Amino acid sequence: MKNILIILFIICSFQVEAFSVLLDPGHGGEDIGAVGKLKVGKKTKVYYEKNLTLDITKQVYEILKKKFSVYMTRTIDREIPLLERAALADKINADLFVSIHINSSKNRKAQGMETYYLDNHKNKAVNKVEDLENFSDKKHTIDPIQHILTDLVIGKTVETSKKLSKFVHSELAGVAKKYKMKNRGIKPGFFYVLLLAKRPGLLIEVGFMSNPKELKLMLTPRFQRRYAQAVARGITKYINQVVGIRETFF
Ligand SMILES: [Zn+2]
Repeated sequence: MKNILIILFIICSFQVEAFSVLLDPGHGGEDIGAVGKLKVGKKTKVYYEKNLTLDITKQVYEILKKKFSVYMTRTIDREIPLLERAALADKINADLFVSIHINSSKNRKAQGMETYYLDNHKNKAVNKVEDLENFSDKKHTIDPIQHILTDLVIGKTVETSKKLSKFVHSELAGVAKKYKMKNRGIKPGFFYVLLLAKRPGLLIEVGFMSNPKELKLMLTPRFQRRYAQAVARGITKYINQVVGIRETFF
């Protein structure tokens, strides 16, 4: 009996070890991402998406690393091509890929958080977000062979990604409610980084850099902590309940 328990323990430990999550702080280095500005007295302070995504992703990492194998595509301010980010997913054999971004719009009133999973769609508003997030990979074009790859990847990942998006977004909805942020919901989006990663995943947009009120909020350590906790909680619940790896939570 004791031996069986030891074997079970080893199997369970191995399962927890074996499940890995790759966190991807959007942009980096020369690729600054979206730009936000805030008036501080008479001066205007400029903020870059690449820094905010790194700050928030690091906090998600710190929480999740206590439970699963977790990696980050970058831990410092450096540019990493989307292909390289995706290659890392293969290298560590990631089970999930979560890319964290901050949105931007010409309309300074645009606001709210949203969660994307990889799928084809015909939504024009989503096309604008794709243009922003896919911009850093200008050379990337989808040729006929890649169309086949696209269908294969979507077919292989879409159901899992949708499930994951529900777990993560329902936690984020609590943060949106607490901070009176607009909940823009879960949407299909065509993001190269998700396509190239070839595994179930999400791209989440925390809020809008272009909205001063929202930018101010996103810069506060308290909001960042709550947001990171919600993402980590959503991923953990998904792994516990869907993948079936049970972990005591926080
Ligand atoms: Zn971005």
